[in-house]
Amino acid sequence: MEVIKRKSALIIVDVQNDFISGSLAVPGGEKVVDVCNHLRDRGDFSMVVVTQDWHPSTHISFARNAQNFVLADEVDGAAVCEFSTVSFSDPPLDGVSVFPVHCVADTWGAELHKDLQVRSSDVTVRKGSHTERESFSAFADNTQLSETHLANTLRHASITDVFVCGLAYDVCVSWTARDAVRRGFRTFFVEDAAAGVEPGEMSRMKQELAQLGVRFVQSDEVPGLLAEAA
Ligand SMILES: [Zn+2]
Repeated sequence: MEVIKRKSALIIVDVQNDFISGSLAVPGGEKVVDVCNHLRDRGDFSMVVVTQDWHPSTHISFARNAQNFVLADEVDGAAVCEFSTVSFSDPPLDGVSVFPVHCVADTWGAELHKDLQVRSSDVTVRKGSHTERESFSAFADNTQLSETHLANTLRHASITDVFVCGLAYDVCVSWTARDAVRRGFRTFFVEDAAAGVEPGEMSRMKQELAQLGVRFVQSDEVPGLLAEAA
């Protein structure tokens, strides 16, 4: 019988200024910075991946840009409010949320929090750069039309297990965890290293991910899990 050697990666999702103290701040977002740093210090990961939401100023997820796309149901694009749900007919997108302007490429809001530890060996994944595509997950856009390099990069390094953390629990961290488990990675969601927006959505996502096989763990359990896998 072939014994699979397990190799683990830590994926730190979107610990960026706009999600901590900027235009789309997540409650308690700042507290995850230390927990993520501690995780990478204590965990012997083969790879650390750091992701960034990285939008053009013309991005479809910004409420103020709604008028630049074709909305379904004769909605007036100029009247679309932040945090509302809209449907577009071109590009075809049903029931998507629109947000304040956030994480515009090469601006302060898109920068990683100044206290987040990053190293030159870390793998960077930037997502949401296509004007017409939203991308919560670090693996692919929300419609799964385009993939980032993440899955290939992990497979090339023979990574079998991923630990996800960061911001926001119920959005980009959950979507990244779902795409990871769907792509065959053993996936752990480090709950105390993530902060979320809506408690109801957090528990809905937790239930869905658990059913898919994602394991929810606390950061102090991670070194033990890594040792077990080694
Ligand atoms: Zn975004």
